[in-house]
Amino acid sequence: MPFTLEPSYDDNPRLQALVADLRRYLHEELIPYERERGLTPETKLDRPTLEHVWKRSRELGFYGVSLPTELGGQGLSLVELCALKEELTASGAVLSHSVLGDMGGPLRAGSIVKYATEYQLERYLLPVIRGERACCFSITEQDAGSDVRRMTTTATPDGDSYLLTGRKVFSSAAPFADFAVVVARMAGTEESYSAFLVDLDSPGCRVLDGEVPMSGQQMEGDLDFDGCRVPAANLLGETGQGLRIGIGRITLNRLLHCPSLIGAARRAWDLSVEYSKSRIAFGQPLLALQAIRHKLADMATDIYAARSAVMATAARADQGANIAVEANMCKLLTAESCFRVADEAVQIHGKAGLTRGHEVEQIFRTLRMFRVVTGTSEIHKNAIAKSLI
Ligand SMILES: Cc1cc2nc3c(=O)[nH]c(=O)nc-3n(C[C@H](O)[C@H](O)[C@H](O)COP(=O)(O)OP(=O)(O)OC[C@H]3O[C@@H](n4cnc5c(N)ncnc54)[C@H](O)[C@@H]3O)c2cc1C
Repeated sequence: MPFTLEPSYDDNPRLQALVADLRRYLHEELIPYERERGLTPETKLDRPTLEHVWKRSRELGFYGVSLPTELGGQGLSLVELCALKEELTASGAVLSHSVLGDMGGPLRAGSIVKYATEYQLERYLLPVIRGERACCFSITEQDAGSDVRRMTTTATPDGDSYLLTGRKVFSSAAPFADFAVVVARMAGTEESYSAFLVDLDSPGCRVLDGEVPMSGQQMEGDLDFDGCRVPAANLLGETGQGLRIGIGRITLNRLLHCPSLIGAARRAWDLSVEYSKSRIAFGQPLLALQAIRHKLADMATDIYAARSAVMATAARADQGANIAVEANMCKLLTAESCFRVADEAVQIHGKAGLTRGHEVEQIFRTLRMFRVVTGTSEIHKNAIAKSLI
């Protein structure tokens, strides 16, 4: 796939048409919709606003577009999905996370679909794909982040159900989700974990406002379980498979976060070029200064390197290869290099870039988080080294 800062996807007519439609939707509908409502990345989003985007994105064929046709998608390859995801964040749209279903939708459910029974598909996952219900994924706890095995949320078998007790934190999409995929330790075991589909309006379950991360986005919530009864029919896969299901989902999600970061970095690059053209210092635009041009060259090179690695890995995954190591490499490379891009964008913007609410300042804060979120850079390095050495 050729690289330009505004990729043309000439070699793939289906993708080229999808990208053109997506750009039209983003710039002619979604961004004006956000402006009319005064939405910023830090606005606390309500369900009707999100449902509007889910429904419209579904009508246009974007919501769940990567799913197989029998599930209502267009069976996109991962390479194609990565291209669309990059376009979303490169647009700067506040609600870009809700167009393909990253935030509460089909992409959040991700690869767990393959473990779902007929009942679970009908009651939980198909309504998510249709944009009628929303879900979150909850594995992290206050004292169990990278080291997920320290989790203390337990599932105790009780007749034809399980009783969940414990607390999950930082579940993205929890404030507007209908159900969660919860990974819990089986009571009385050291190392057996299971995954459950949990209705968030069940007795014994409370959704609490979570901490607001440095991006200012208010999309995380905590889940508190106090003897919450979960029917046995809501067990995903088999007991003991919870970490495999959870971590399997995370591996692919690690790769799929990358194009979103690359799109945000591309947006920071675009804004920096524009600013360098118009900002005059010492009688000339910033763009005339070699120091600034070198920064822009470094930024474009970082974006190119990250994109090349991600697309190559996505292409290998499309061919059925196991990409566990490469997904870690891509997330490490992308999180670190896109954050560098954001840092240079702030530098080029001077005090404007340091001003709360400026778009590059927002991108900087958002990209900073991804050196931790969905796996810290250190944990990626551990995994890469463990696999290769
Ligand atoms: C905005 C946001 C959204 C999130 N969304 C979700 C979600 O939807 N669902 C969910 O379950 N979780 C979610 N999380 C949690 C996220 O995945 C965790 O924050 C992440 O896994 C790291 O865990 P921790 O923050 O507890 O850090 P810790 O694991 O405590 O790590 C602290 C530091 O120690 C380092 N460290 C730890 N162990 C090692 C080691 N063995 N070797 C080297 N260094 C090490 C880490 O790299 C890090 O620098 C979210 C977090 C945020 C901020």
